[in-house]
Amino acid sequence: MSISQNLANIRLRIRAAAEAAGRDPDTVRLVAVSKTRPAGDIVEAFQAGQTIFGENYVQELTAKLDQLQEPIQWHVIGHLQSNKVKYIAGRVALIHSVDRFSLAEEISRQWGKLGMVCPVLIQVNISGETTKSGTTEAGALQLVRECARLPNLRIKGLMTMPPFFDDPEAARPYFAGLRRLSEEIIAAGIAGVEMVELSMGMSGDFEAAIQEGATLVRVGTAIFGER
Ligand SMILES: *Cc1c(COP(=O)(O)O)cnc(C)c1O
Repeated sequence: MSISQNLANIRLRIRAAAEAAGRDPDTVRLVAVSKTRPAGDIVEAFQAGQTIFGENYVQELTAKLDQLQEPIQWHVIGHLQSNKVKYIAGRVALIHSVDRFSLAEEISRQWGKLGMVCPVLIQVNISGETTKSGTTEAGALQLVRECARLPNLRIKGLMTMPPFFDDPEAARPYFAGLRRLSEEIIAAGIAGVEMVELSMGMSGDFEAAIQEGATLVRVGTAIFGER
């Protein structure tokens, strides 16, 4: 199957999952995860109508930023080191992986130099696995409160990465947990904080994530093939 056929297939599955959950399919956006894939694959997906691409590694992302002229919306989805933020300042549309205050401060500082505001998601380690990045569920509200005071960063929602399961249903409780946490944060009524995005679901489990409220699904393998 070609990249464009895979994309068409994923779009149909997104639509069906949203409709089955009684949701408007247009409230779910597809992030094509292009890490390790060559620029040519990205161009092919872009020509097939895909506009949002997610990358994990800053060096790879900046190389692609320099190489590709297409009006792509780039999202950072991987663990981000503070000392790398300066290389992507003003060049990405959303950072999904803010998991600590020091990183948020640096993002605000670098975007501030450009007179811009960076939209971000707070990454939460809902499963509590020690190998996963993300703030703890218990610490998320406090981190949101601290980040809300930063002038050049705007919190738009939450992101999570559940443990890997063969059965997508096994990931569902973690997706539901992220949605509940976002509702708690909304209820806290923190000025300047928007909880409009839930970034959850990957190739193996995006339908369950959509049924639990995902607004951004991050799909790599099912579009581009095995890495
Ligand atoms: C690689 C990656 C994905 C995509 O995973 P697939 O299983 O290839 O769809 C999604 N989110 C994050 C954070 C990733 O690192």
